[in-house]
Amino acid sequence: MRKNSITVQEIIVGLMLLLAVVYFLGQTIVSKKVVFPEIVEQILAPLISPSITLTPSPTPRARTLAEMDKLFGPCVNLPTLMYHHVEPEAVAIKNKRVGLNVPPEMFKKQMEYLISNNYSIITPKDLIDFFDSGKVLPAKPVMITFDDGYVDIGDVAFPIMREMKIKATIYIPTGLMENFSYLTWAKIEEMKSSGLITFGNHTWSHKNVGADREVVKYEISTADGQLSEKGLGDPKTFVYPYGLENNSTEKLLDEMGYQLAFTTVPGRVMCEKRRLSLPRIRIGNASLSVFGL
Ligand SMILES: [Zn+2]
Repeated sequence: MRKNSITVQEIIVGLMLLLAVVYFLGQTIVSKKVVFPEIVEQILAPLISPSITLTPSPTPRARTLAEMDKLFGPCVNLPTLMYHHVEPEAVAIKNKRVGLNVPPEMFKKQMEYLISNNYSIITPKDLIDFFDSGKVLPAKPVMITFDDGYVDIGDVAFPIMREMKIKATIYIPTGLMENFSYLTWAKIEEMKSSGLITFGNHTWSHKNVGADREVVKYEISTADGQLSEKGLGDPKTFVYPYGLENNSTEKLLDEMGYQLAFTTVPGRVMCEKRRLSLPRIRIGNASLSVFGL
């Protein structure tokens, strides 16, 4: 038979419930937000919202050549290879620049790969002629560029290219030439006279073109003057230091008669309306097939 009095057990349960309510209200006040409606919302959400299936957003698809042609054309599929150093692996490791290096044996294999796979190595002038007058480019065109004018390009890469009759363009920060680890003007002249190597503007001191407009103008025009003085200024082509480009620099380059400018943005479709922000392919220590060639 049940007694009417409250048992000890009931008192303990009651106290625990009271403590839970006090704790809950305390938390609500301390966090200065009302959590109660959120809890209600969470409980009710599955009941009131229609069933939703979440699908991942589609990966942005690269535009096809035909689509690019319509928007920015005429366009051409022209892989443009970007190199920095070609030096023995041990030297690159010692100087902590393995990521910027292709060892000579691999570089030679890559050049052989281009030849045996029937690529036609063209020059910036060929691309300019394609843009300006619709010059027909050979099948499987490819372009080779080196950034920064390091000494190993003259001492290591150039002998390989001379032997294999490979054409390339070296983009030099003109004010840094003759410094330790950079090309000398004598070496530049030797490479130019081979008829295989052309040179382009990479500013005077390898300046980021995000700098003040007057500074950027000084950098590009000083390099432009030095290249012209050495008979290296034609055609006028440019590579943005650090790959960083912007509209005001494009405008400046256009005013100064620049015909092409390359970024480090990955891609291989070259379009006339984008001629001052062209993509390239960064080449590393692996077969060119790894880089889509
Ligand atoms: Zn550079």
